[in-house]
Amino acid sequence: MFFFKKRQVASIELFNTKGREKQVFEPLKEGQMKMYSCGPTVYDYVHIGNLRAYLLSDIVRRTFEYAGYKVLQVMNFTDFGHLTSDEDEGEDKMMKALRREGKELTMENMFALATTYIDAYQKDREAMNILKPHIMPRASEHVRGQMAYVETLLHKDYAYKTSDGVYFDTEKFPEYGVLGGSASEEHSRVGVSSEKKNPRDFAVWKFNNEMGWDAPWGKGFPGWHVECTAMSTHYLGRTFDVHTGGIDNVPIHHNNEIAQAEAANEKPYVRYWLHNEHVSVDSRRIGKSEGNAITLKQFSDRGISAIAYRYWLLTGHYRQKVNFTWEAVEAAQTALKRAQKLFVDLKGSGKPDAGYQEKFREVIYDDLNTPEAIAVLWELLKDESVPSGIKRATILDFDRVLGLGFSGARVHLEAEKVTVSSEAPEGIQNLLKEREEARVAKDFARADELRVSIAEHGYVIEDSPEGPILRKVTGEGR
Ligand code: AMP
Ligand code: ZN
Repeated sequence: MFFFKKRQVASIELFNTKGREKQVFEPLKEGQMKMYSCGPTVYDYVHIGNLRAYLLSDIVRRTFEYAGYKVLQVMNFTDFGHLTSDEDEGEDKMMKALRREGKELTMENMFALATTYIDAYQKDREAMNILKPHIMPRASEHVRGQMAYVETLLHKDYAYKTSDGVYFDTEKFPEYGVLGGSASEEHSRVGVSSEKKNPRDFAVWKFNNEMGWDAPWGKGFPGWHVECTAMSTHYLGRTFDVHTGGIDNVPIHHNNEIAQAEAANEKPYVRYWLHNEHVSVDSRRIGKSEGNAITLKQFSDRGISAIAYRYWLLTGHYRQKVNFTWEAVEAAQTALKRAQKLFVDLKGSGKPDAGYQEKFREVIYDDLNTPEAIAVLWELLKDESVPSGIKRATILDFDRVLGLGFSGARVHLEAEKVTVSSEAPEGIQNLLKEREEARVAKDFARADELRVSIAEHGYVIEDSPEGPILRKVTGEGR
């Protein structure tokens, strides 16, 4: 006979965009939490603004796991169908990227391009210590599911055909726009396709004679919004617990996801909607179209680690706008190193301190208050009344949520002191010298170019306090 132990879970409050208030989380199934996060459109490297959205997803997962929940986390890759505008205007971002890279517009090339940027994303994710979601589907693997939604919506008369696609009829769904987010402003900004019945109506399918998939209603591509609905409900069920994304997803993408899902399934879609605010530079939101996209590659050129960026982001609450500056992340890196140094000096072992755990839980279960959690971490680091081994265990306990790499801190700090003697050929050494000069002159574009050409020769640059070192890449990394 089997006895199932009831999971002991803690109570967590989350700010739900639906309803715009903090709510106590009630899982759909006791002890379980199922979540979906909008993932990258893989037409380019992700920028540091995007990474804030993936970090939110990571913190949600880690917090629920820490609280005792069994978590199932899904994050997708959009490998087609996301137009340059979130509405149904503009060009497909993937096709634009093919043109940018001088490649022929074929489905094969499009999927190969996606694979390149998926691999790059996985590296950035690892560098940021973002746990790998349990399932990471590509939209192109779920076209059948997306077609099933289009078919149901047409069948139920929630969708209609025009000359360029199949559109969701928002008039038929009175609750449309339940997440708010000035939907009407967003919709009027782009202009009205003459055949749409209402400016808010959105494409669930776009026709394309040359590329795409054959469907009874015409060849083409599923709309971007239908991708997420099809993938999330496929893995998590028609109703699930948590959906996350960046704040810009609220007015259109997520309102549209709700409309399609609830119209087709006649069930509530998502119970808790969480959205992160933007990262800006000079008070302008970071975006590829804004021309101010910063990527993690630029961090390594300045000798700043991705974990330092993680630390910096965690010092702001996810619902606050943050303004990025290099000085700020440099300061974050200094602070994090100081914390790691204090940590590696702690000797002995013990159990986590219950009082500090309680303080930490109080803030992290209060809508994921990471800035306060980091304040608790510092209070503990400086508290001389806590025995060393206990302090060590408590920090490792907090790090299950914060993910700042304390368990590997010793190795990390030791590695920084070692200068690996380089056997790189003179040509590569010269490239490194040039790259250093560019870095000193703050010509980061040139430094970045040189780092890429060094990488093409099979060497990576590792920054250490004693200066940069070259390491030959061998094995699978090549
Ligand atoms: P995209 O690849 O454009 O679909 O964006 C991926 C995710 O990053 C989405 O959840 C966006 O809302 C989010 N995002 C985009 N720009 C920023 C930004 N500057 N700051 C924070 N999140 C962002
Ligand atoms: Zn999405």
